[in-house]
Amino acid sequence: MKIESQQVAVITGGGSGIGAALARACALQGMQVVVADIDKGAADSIVAELEMFDAKALAVQVDIADEGSVQALADITREAFGDCHLLCNNAGVCINRSFADSTKADWDWVMSVNVMGTVNSLNAFLPGMLKAGGARHIVNTASLTGLVAIEAVGSVYTASKYALIGMSEILQQELAQTEIGVTILCPGAVNTRILESERNRPDSSATAETAPVPGGLDESFVRMIEPVDVAAMVLDAVRDNKLYVVTHPEWFPMIEQRVKLLESAFKD
Ligand code: NAD
Repeated sequence: MKIESQQVAVITGGGSGIGAALARACALQGMQVVVADIDKGAADSIVAELEMFDAKALAVQVDIADEGSVQALADITREAFGDCHLLCNNAGVCINRSFADSTKADWDWVMSVNVMGTVNSLNAFLPGMLKAGGARHIVNTASLTGLVAIEAVGSVYTASKYALIGMSEILQQELAQTEIGVTILCPGAVNTRILESERNRPDSSATAETAPVPGGLDESFVRMIEPVDVAAMVLDAVRDNKLYVVTHPEWFPMIEQRVKLLESAFKD
């Protein structure tokens, strides 16, 4: 999609980290930006920052796990700015627990935000985007841990990101005949507040802290990059209609190892 001023960008999880960087990058392109976040204070402060540079921006409180809340976000967006051109389904939460330590509440919370939150957002925005016609784009934030399983990351988060990648690949196939492109963002380590995700966990689903899972990554794979660099890669992928954005090419040998294992299963 050609990125142009006055287009409408909606960014879930826009109050922090990668989402905030996406909001800044879109505002710099002259887009009208909806910063949607469960943490209204965080969304407000990003919008205040954008407005200092005369950007048109709106902070909206949303819980993407709640279908009605996301529908309200779509209605507010249309009323304020019109139909969405760039939908960044970016809000996500993380817990790194072993399978044995993960409770049903852990699974419910992470799946409700990472997977069903993205489904809710697509259900709320996609019909309007299709109806409005013209070039539009969807960015779903997954993770490199949606392409390869790393013990230290834990099964709950990993399963949620594998699910997102599968869903997004199908979405791209289903939308191939339209002017709506799909990009799957697969970051490695990015300097954000993701490891403090429990700050946004509803009290009703909280569980006691447990020890971090062993089986960490080799240090060479934990090269921390800044959200601003990720946002630049995303906007390039939107312009070029690329399906995948991979922020850490050095992870490829791990993915290749998985593919080789699969290959041997087919050949055995
Ligand atoms: P972050 O914690 O800094 O930002 C996440 C934002 O999402 C926060 O502002 C938070 O308030 C918001 N949020 C959480 N639950 C929400 C809900 N139910 N409804 C609406 N908003 C909600 O973390 P980040 O790293 O910027 O995370 C952005 C995305 O990037 C996530 O999907 C995460 O899984 C993914 N990711 C991050 C990394 C990394 O290393 N930081 C790596 C791979 C993938």
